[in-house]
Amino acid sequence: MLSCEHASGEIPDEFGDLGMTEEHLTECARGKDQGAADLFDYLVRELDCLGVRNGISRLVIDANRYEDQDELIPTRWGGKEIPGNIGLSDAERMRRIELYYRPYHQALVDSLLKCETLHGKVFFFAIHAMAEQFEGQVREMDFALIANRGRELAPFLEERLRTSGYTAAINQPYHLERDILRVSVGSELERFNETAVLIEMNERCRADDRAKEALLNAIRGTVEANYP
Ligand SMILES: [Zn+2]
Repeated sequence: MLSCEHASGEIPDEFGDLGMTEEHLTECARGKDQGAADLFDYLVRELDCLGVRNGISRLVIDANRYEDQDELIPTRWGGKEIPGNIGLSDAERMRRIELYYRPYHQALVDSLLKCETLHGKVFFFAIHAMAEQFEGQVREMDFALIANRGRELAPFLEERLRTSGYTAAINQPYHLERDILRVSVGSELERFNETAVLIEMNERCRADDRAKEALLNAIRGTVEANYP
């Protein structure tokens, strides 16, 4: 199963432009991972697998954060404030969570359970794209494989990408303190994290069809090598 948390730059009308200038919105691509939605659509089609794609911009609420994380509703981006997200009441935070965050996570869980019923074992890949340069740091790798409990799976992806001529780094340029599927600690749903990897494609690869094909083959090969 595939997911795409940062597929969309959609900001619901009720938020206007979140008080941001047109320039600022363009700079941050309205909160979209550039190229991630296309990559996700391609992979879901070619793998013929289940996929859940988020339709809300991370500028409104970030599906790739836990509900209790500070950056869940970001107050800054690229060094500039997001005025519409500053000084929110607890009630407004909760309203956003219920309206624009929880339905997506429920859809993820529903899809994972469906996949498990169909196939017995589930492999879960969250598809993202990262900027080549971020806060003065250059990301050299073509792909970043972020894995916590799924760290046994990540080397399979890494090896296959390398064989196709692409570089991949595991738990770089960042790592997650908690895990990919955001469920409460001790929940039975945590089992899905044991075979979950978050994949970041470097934005410089977004027009490279061979890179997308290499990832497709890496996912396919990883699942085939680990399916009981
Ligand atoms: Zn992302």
